[in-house]
Amino acid sequence: MIEGIKIEQGLQDMTIMKKEFGSNYASITDADFTAKYRASCYCNAVQCEVCSDPVDAKICHCLACQKLHGAPMQWAAIFHKHDVRITEGIDHLNFYNSELNKHERILPCKVSCALCGTLIADEGRNMWLAFPSLFNFGGISKVPTKFKPTCHIFYGMRVIDINDDLPKWSGHKNHSELIGN
Ligand SMILES: [Zn+2]
Ligand SMILES: [Zn+2]
Repeated sequence: MIEGIKIEQGLQDMTIMKKEFGSNYASITDADFTAKYRASCYCNAVQCEVCSDPVDAKICHCLACQKLHGAPMQWAAIFHKHDVRITEGIDHLNFYNSELNKHERILPCKVSCALCGTLIADEGRNMWLAFPSLFNFGGISKVPTKFKPTCHIFYGMRVIDINDDLPKWSGHKNHSELIGN
């Protein structure tokens, strides 16, 4: 009888307890975590928080980004996983490894909202490449400096020209040729 009560209590705790996204990530129960910025998908089912500024931000012009994002380029802000946590919607996440064409969480993979289709991030092995357009900063004047792109990568594959002063790498940053500004 007592055992039965214990099991029932355990099941209740489990339903109350929020899911964790992974051991590399900040825990949802970490009381010391102070959200610096919040992001959400279009339908708001998926919500994330970061407690730091990004370590870098880039614009990628590669063909995979063009197709998967349905856009001429992809803007990504890079975070350490331990500075990131998903606060809502872990059960609504889709994972897609484009190299293997598999809907599985095989890193690196794309993370998206299954309900509205918003791409949330590129999940790398160590890093979380978030898409700043999900952060709702409220206009260009409010975009934090650290989110501003520092370079263009895979610029050799571009479909539109960009007239800015940022370095433009033909492929990966520091591992390809610079294409003139
Ligand atoms: Zn959504
Ligand atoms: Zn790309």
